[in-house]
Amino acid sequence: QAKKQGENLHQFYVKENEYPASEHVELYRNLRKALDNNEFVLVYQPQYDIETKEFIGIEALIRWNHPEKGIISPLQFIPFAEEVGLIVPIGKWVLHEACKQWRLWMDHNYLGRTLKMSVNLSSRQMYEPDLIELISKILNETGMDPHFLEIEVTESITMNLDRATMLLSKLKGIGVSISIDDFGTGFSSLAYLKNFPIDRIKIDRTFIKDLSNDISDQNIVKTIIALGINLNLKVIAEGVESEEQLNLLRNYGCHEAQGYFLGLPMSAGNIAKIIYTE
Ligand code: C2E
Ligand code: MG
Ligand code: MG
Ligand code: MG
Repeated sequence: QAKKQGENLHQFYVKENEYPASEHVELYRNLRKALDNNEFVLVYQPQYDIETKEFIGIEALIRWNHPEKGIISPLQFIPFAEEVGLIVPIGKWVLHEACKQWRLWMDHNYLGRTLKMSVNLSSRQMYEPDLIELISKILNETGMDPHFLEIEVTESITMNLDRATMLLSKLKGIGVSISIDDFGTGFSSLAYLKNFPIDRIKIDRTFIKDLSNDISDQNIVKTIIALGINLNLKVIAEGVESEEQLNLLRNYGCHEAQGYFLGLPMSAGNIAKIIYTE
């Protein structure tokens, strides 16, 4: 009987057999509980201007602080949360928390300039009918200045070009910036770059990983940077792990960088320390 139930649920939720049914029900229940019990936390990774070395922004990244298993990576629950729709309440929590934290930093550590806060938005959230209202409400409640909020979307939003164009324009309309995350890894045409009000592209870290040795990666990265510059977009490289990679990126004219070499994802308290000691 249990097996039968499992199979039904399985059919209902899982498309590509990614999650065994029993684990599935359990994970769903645990994720719901995690939301109610406040088990999610955000860590923050700094982003730098390559030329001036200035600390310019922060990406908020979710972690699940599981009472028994400890810290769990988003890679282990975000794809599932997207599949079963839990990404909607989780994404709402992330946005609220990130904006609240930004306000706190600015109120307590403001040093004459303001950092940008980037938040990842799942394509699934795009289908929420009241997404823009929700974001506006969060901005209001937290005192986040929309001009310092950036939403990171992936090329997968181009699956529904009309909806994405409409939503991104509305976001832009309320003052929020937009970046294309993991740029170069999606199966999408470049045509969307023309229609979307994009501010920045983030070169996926798979192209940065072997940048020092791999000529193809070097050519791809140079091309993405040229594309960004020609379209008047900022270009940031993610996953920068060495000085050599950073130097290459500087030579290619890449504007900004993020990665372990420059700063790990860290607690809000440690971000505040950077702001103080810089
Ligand atoms: P992403 O948005 O592309 O985030 C960058 C990922 O690269 C992060 O992994 C970050 O910790 C990692 N990273 C940063 N620098 C380096 C580096 O130098 N080397 C390597 N190897 N990795 C680096 P993380 O935090 O595990 O997040 C993984 C993915 O999970 C994110 O990829 C994003 O797609 C998703 N994610 C994380 N937080 C959220 C969230 O709040 N909402 C949504 N929808 N997705 C999220
Ligand atoms: Mg991201
Ligand atoms: Mg990324
Ligand atoms: Mg990535």
